[in-house]
Amino acid sequence: MYSLMANCCNWLKRWREPIRKVTLIMVGLDNAGKTATVKGIQGESPEDVAPTVGFSKIDLKQGRFEVTIFDLGGGKRIRGIWKNYYAESYGIIFVVDSSDVERMEETKETMSELLRHPKISGKPVLVLANKQDKEGALAEADVIECLSLEKLVNEHKCLCQIEPCSAIMGYGKKIDKSIKKGLLWLLHIIAKDFDALHERIQKDTAEQKAAEEQEKRERAERVRKIREERERKEREEAEREGRSISDEVDPELVTGNPFQPISTVIAENEKKIEKEKKRQREENEKEALALKPKTDQDQMDSQSLISQQSNDCRLVEKYKSALTQRLEHEDENDQQVSESLDSGDNATLNPGTENSKKKAKKLKLKRSHRVEPVSAEETISPQPTPVTPLAPVGWETPKVHRIRKLEPLGEMRHNDFYGKPLPPLTIRQRPNSETHDVIS
Ligand code: GDP
Repeated sequence: MYSLMANCCNWLKRWREPIRKVTLIMVGLDNAGKTATVKGIQGESPEDVAPTVGFSKIDLKQGRFEVTIFDLGGGKRIRGIWKNYYAESYGIIFVVDSSDVERMEETKETMSELLRHPKISGKPVLVLANKQDKEGALAEADVIECLSLEKLVNEHKCLCQIEPCSAIMGYGKKIDKSIKKGLLWLLHIIAKDFDALHERIQKDTAEQKAAEEQEKRERAERVRKIREERERKEREEAEREGRSISDEVDPELVTGNPFQPISTVIAENEKKIEKEKKRQREENEKEALALKPKTDQDQMDSQSLISQQSNDCRLVEKYKSALTQRLEHEDENDQQVSESLDSGDNATLNPGTENSKKKAKKLKLKRSHRVEPVSAEETISPQPTPVTPLAPVGWETPKVHRIRKLEPLGEMRHNDFYGKPLPPLTIRQRPNSETHDVIS
């Protein structure tokens, strides 16, 4: 009767207790079995879990507690993030892989560093000596010894409980009893000293927030200084080069929302490219103006150069027309001689004119080997003759295209036309050049 009354009183006492929100952190080396443990507590199968990268968070209700557990990644490079969660945690769950004897020293160092932290010292710690199902796993006493657990917790005034367990043995209601027992112990200790812990956590989190704000401000200040320095350098460089940077820096793009629709970004970029092109065009025009002759002397020089060029052209034209006239005249003569030669074949030609016969023969030969005069344009800028591809073998006889031979302007061409003397070659030096221009 007495025990029934006592139980009723306890139940009423607990019922009147307010609901408490507590945050716990679950830490330990990578591969220790943290995620498997968390999943088991949550009621999910702990098999086939991947090692935690970053962190995961679970919420659960345990009696009068609303518990949040942060499962923090244990990789060497990620352990640095743990300290961000120290201030708000009421207690710690430290998972150890009891089968990994080789990493016991690393585990010890990690735990020592954790308990030494001012925002952790004095808080309750639950050590889960996990993977007890594995062969060769260290027993509870061995883990305590390997980690120098007693010494550590005494040094840092942390209440501690160690539970040998296996996270993969079951989950939900069938979870390893040691895990459940350990979790209840932790919550019980927290509940016992809740007010003092809560006050400390409020204070620590406020301090951490202030520190984070300060760090944020300092970072923003550093960024601002770096940007100012860069802008100053850009301005100085622009001044040195004599260009304005007002249209180069778009303040909206620098300070505005970095997440803009892609179409806007493309349009902005196109505008920028267009501006840049325009600027370059203007610069080119300026350069061209600067290169134009400025003095009278320069202008005279350029005019004389132009007139000299036109003189050369006129000379070539004159020579061409003279040559054509001469050829036409000779053609007429040839015609007459050949006509008389033809008639001679028909026995009407005067047999006494032996010389004229020879002459006519000679002329006929000459005409068949005559090379047409090359035009002035062709001589100055010869165009390559397109080569027609050959037809496939066996289809038809491939045509042979004779490419007109361009002869060099020199002695050969000079004596080419029936031994008649041609005007002398004019050789002049190109302005601003060491090479010689040859105009016939
Ligand atoms: P975490 O990196 O600490 O989160 O480790 P995980 O929970 O991801 O577990 C790492 C590996 O150990 C997984 O393959 C788990 O299946 C396995 N594992 C976790 N707990 C146990 C256990 O108690 N016994 C055995 N044999 N394997 C376990």
